[in-house]
Amino acid sequence: MQFDDLYREMIQDHYRQPRNKEPIDTKSQGAALDNPSCGDRVALKIEWDDHDRIKSIVFDGEGCSISMASASMLTEIMSGKSRAEAVETAAKIHRIFRGEEPAEELEAYGDIISLQGLVQYPVRLKCATLAWQTLDLLLGAEAS
Ligand code: ZN
Repeated sequence: MQFDDLYREMIQDHYRQPRNKEPIDTKSQGAALDNPSCGDRVALKIEWDDHDRIKSIVFDGEGCSISMASASMLTEIMSGKSRAEAVETAAKIHRIFRGEEPAEELEAYGDIISLQGLVQYPVRLKCATLAWQTLDLLLGAEAS
């Protein structure tokens, strides 16, 4: 199907040319999580501005194309968001990934629509959600 090819292209594009990827020393900054079933590792780091908006968000890590593409897409989605918007958007995307809301709604968030097909595949979904779980960790930790 045509859409599958398009989506595969979008995933590969983020995998080969990741957005906002730079080294993160997770001992002193950010948060990181592993997905042992696939060998993926994602680290995230957020810098907030004076108005509690995301000034910069970068990721680091290694793993399969889906885990890296999802992290790359996450940084694009979250750039410039307020803390409340970030929490709300992350919750929404988790609900979509869990199948509680229609996968088509990912379209509102840009390239991440390319991951919509994964909702039916729990194993690959773990790869896609890794970055989002890492973000939860960061938002939760930073909010306290
Ligand atoms: Zn993976």
